[in-house]
Parts: sequence; structure tokens; C-alpha cells
Amino acid sequence: MELRYSEAEESFRATLREWLEHSLPAVPPQPSREDWVARRQWDADWQRRLFDGGYAGLNWPKEYGGQGATPTEQLIFFEETAKARAPYVGANFVGTLHAGPTLIEEGTGAQKAAHLPNILRGDEIWCQGFSEPGAGSDLAGLRTRADRDGDDYVLNGQKIWCSFGQIADVGEFLVRTDPDAPKNRGISWLILPMDLPGIEIRPIKTALGSSEFCEVFLTDVRVPVSQRVGAENDGWRVTNVTLKYERGTAFVSELIDSLRLCRDAAKLTSDAAHLRELGHCYAAFDGLWSLTKRNVSQTSRGTAGAGGMVIKLAYSEARQRFGELCLRMLERDGLHIEGNELVEERLRTLALTIAAGASQIQRNIISERVLGLPREPR
Ligand SMILES: Cc1cc2nc3c(=O)[nH]c(=O)nc-3n(C[C@H](O)[C@H](O)[C@H](O)COP(=O)(O)OP(=O)(O)OC[C@H]3O[C@@H](n4cnc5c(N)ncnc54)[C@H](O)[C@@H]3O)c2cc1C
Repeated sequence: MELRYSEAEESFRATLREWLEHSLPAVPPQPSREDWVARRQWDADWQRRLFDGGYAGLNWPKEYGGQGATPTEQLIFFEETAKARAPYVGANFVGTLHAGPTLIEEGTGAQKAAHLPNILRGDEIWCQGFSEPGAGSDLAGLRTRADRDGDDYVLNGQKIWCSFGQIADVGEFLVRTDPDAPKNRGISWLILPMDLPGIEIRPIKTALGSSEFCEVFLTDVRVPVSQRVGAENDGWRVTNVTLKYERGTAFVSELIDSLRLCRDAAKLTSDAAHLRELGHCYAAFDGLWSLTKRNVSQTSRGTAGAGGMVIKLAYSEARQRFGELCLRMLERDGLHIEGNELVEERLRTLALTIAAGASQIQRNIISERVLGLPREPR
């Protein structure tokens, strides 16, 4: 076991810190939550800065314009950018974190050439059209149809919870290409240009008052068959490639931010009971941060264990406990809560135990794949 960062890793960190110190003052203030045009521009501008600075596509192979960084360098990147309070990946998250990597593994040469450079430069925003009203945890139960008509598929159906759908140029969409096959054998993975005729996008208002998600209605949408990634009806396998990337690094920056929020919250109270609870929260986040580092170290050695699944489950629940404590603190101390970062965080964290696999599903996966308990009855 090597507990220290190598000289090369420390040098990567120092160069990154210097770059952040130089770059962050030039970043304009974040636009308001509902100004979608400005939000898109702000996120795209940051991606462009990363690209120009040599930090775009950190974990992508060099042959596709990435940096070929090690998992440890990626971890350092998340740690340093979160500590410096640099912009988060924002609207670029689908493209850079999972659609791009899926195309690298599964796309044709033409698909890679058409999209990878645009994603890295921040010129192309992607969204994900996987979930449907009747297919969330049971994703393979999706019903949006893609009927073959010559060189096109004709799409009909509905997607939901499509983050950033209102500003996306392209989507990774799952469709049913064989309605008669067992449910996970009749699915295909498509690249869907979001401006095609027949696509209607309706934003959904969240508890925070903003419209982070959209419903997407598809009526006789014609998509060329050449937009399919992987073989027809082999989309479930491709989906698992996407999910592997989606769930991989989702919470690293958040963990660093949680430690900061705990420290900030401690400044708001002198109540001994609250401080004790805050100490427990801090210890939980700190422990998870150590587990994250161990997980990255195992991944670097090709021996990834159950760390990622455990971190997602434990982190999302710890963050909700922390949010509840903040609300109690604010209520007891009579603090002004409108626009308060801690209150907003509490509302936002409600989604953490659902996004990228609900807690119950994570428990099922851990019990079946890690603990070897009997499978859930189908
Ligand atoms: C912040 C956020 C962003 C998202 N972004 C996107 C996006 O961009 N694109 C997209 O396609 N989707 C997106 N989603 C949707 C997300 O993938 C689904 O919400 C998630 O898969 C759960 O599905 P569901 O909401 O249909 O809940 P359901 O699957 O209906 O689950 C409801 C409840 O039942 C429980 N449950 C379900 N099945 C079982 C079981 N077998 N055993 C025990 N308990 C069970 C669940 O754990 C949950 O508590 C996003 C969700 C969130 C919160």
C-alpha cells in the first residue's frame, strides 16, 4: 500500500493550483438558475477554459483529445477544483462524463469524429433520455418504440427527468427496437439530435423552483439508423458501459464541498448538541473521503471493489442527515432562511438518494453482488 502521493502527482497538483489561481478570477458570476441561455454559455465557457488549459477530458485517452490522466490525477483534479470553488461540470456532465466515454468505447469512427471534439471544447451539450414514467429503477422496462423504416428509425414515446433537456444539442436515448424480445434484449442506444421534428420538451419545476429536468415527448421522430451506437438490440450492454461511467466519479467533488459546508455550519451555532451532530457529519464525510481515496487506489491497481457503490449509498444518506440538521439549526436559531445556501442544499439533497440508482437499488446490488445474498425475486 502506498499512502503518499508520488512526486509526479504532487507536481500535477501544484500546476493545477497555479492554473486555477490564474483562471478563476476571469470567470464571471454564475447566472441565475432559470436563465438557461446564460447558464449554458457559462458552463460551455468553463469547459472551453478547461480545454484551452489542457484539463478537458482528463480521463479520456489521448488519441481522442483527452489527457490520459491516471485515476489519482483525476481525484486530485476533483479535490482541487472543489476546494478552489471552481465551476462544476454543470450542463457538460452527460457529454464529458458518460456519453463521450461511451462513444469512445462503443461508437463508430464517424460518430467519434462528429462528437468527441465538440464535447471536449464545450461546443455540444448532451442530455440523457433513459428514464420513462414507468421505467426508472426498472430501466429495462422502457417502452419508447423505434420502428425501422428503411434507413431510419421512427420514434414514439415519452422520456422523463431529462436533465438539461431544454438546452441540449444531442441526447443519449434508449429505445425499444424489438418489442417481442425479453425486455433487456430488445433495446438500442441512439444518438438523438434534439432539434429533430417531432421532439417536444417540457420543463418540470422542482422543489427549488427551477426547471432542472424535462419531459421529452417523441412523436414520429425520424432518426437515421447510422445514429445507433452498438448493434441493434444490444443497447442494454451499451447502457451498462454508460452507467459504469455515470456512477464512477459522481460524488467526489460533492464530498469535498460537504466538508466545507460542515465547517461553515459550525460557525453558525454555539449549541453543544448541534456541534456534536455536526462533528458526526464531518467524521462521516471525512471517512467517505478516505474510502474514496482507497477506492481510487484499488481502481489504479485494477482491483476495484465495492467502494463506489458503498460511497454512493452512504454519502447520499449522510448528506441528507446533514441537511436535516441544518434546517433544525436554522429553525432553532431563528436565522433568515430565504436564499440560504444550507436550506437550498437540503432541498437539493433530496434527489441524491434517487439519482444514478435509488438507495434501495444500491442496497439490492450490494447484497447480491458483494455479500452474495439471494437475488431479489423477479
Ligand atoms: C437529480 C436527478 C437527475 C436525473 N437525471 C436524469 C437524466 O438526465 N436522464 C434520465 O433518463 N433520468 C434521470 N433521472 C432519473 C433517475 O434515473 C430515476 O429517478 C431513478 O432511476 C429512479 O427511478 P424512478 O424515479 O422512476 O423511481 P422508481 O423506480 O419508481 O422508484 C420509486 C421508489 O421505489 C423503490 N424501488 C423501485 N424498485 C425497487 C426494488 N426492486 N426493490 C426495492 N425498492 C425499489 C426505489 O428505490 C424508490 O424509492 C434523474 C433523477 C434525479 C433525481
